[in-house]
Amino acid sequence: MHSNIFVKALPLLKESKLNIDIDAFIDFLGHYKQNDWMYPTAIHRRLKIDIREIYKALEILSDNGLLEQYLEIYCPNCKRYTGDFFKTIGDIPKEIYCENCDEEILNPLEHAVVIYKVL
Ligand SMILES: [Zn+2]
Repeated sequence: MHSNIFVKALPLLKESKLNIDIDAFIDFLGHYKQNDWMYPTAIHRRLKIDIREIYKALEILSDNGLLEQYLEIYCPNCKRYTGDFFKTIGDIPKEIYCENCDEEILNPLEHAVVIYKVL
């Protein structure tokens, strides 16, 4: 069963003329619930859709108030997400320590990954 959000997403994506299998994409999005974090790379791994098309699709949903964009820091030492979420680039502190491996992440801005929260 799909949440309301993705019922709204369907016509938006159909209109967008993106080069993706819209039905498979919507079906996958249906697994997400409100306040879930959506990782474009996870969608890419599952659906094998071009990552740029995924970002375009998620941006459309974001522009229409279905998702909210955030930045999360990816740790280059242990290759895991740190669980630190930021709304804008300006919110990212100069110093971040990874909660997983306790290493300092140098230049955290360079390791910021765009992710989305389901609204
Ligand atoms: Zn780490």
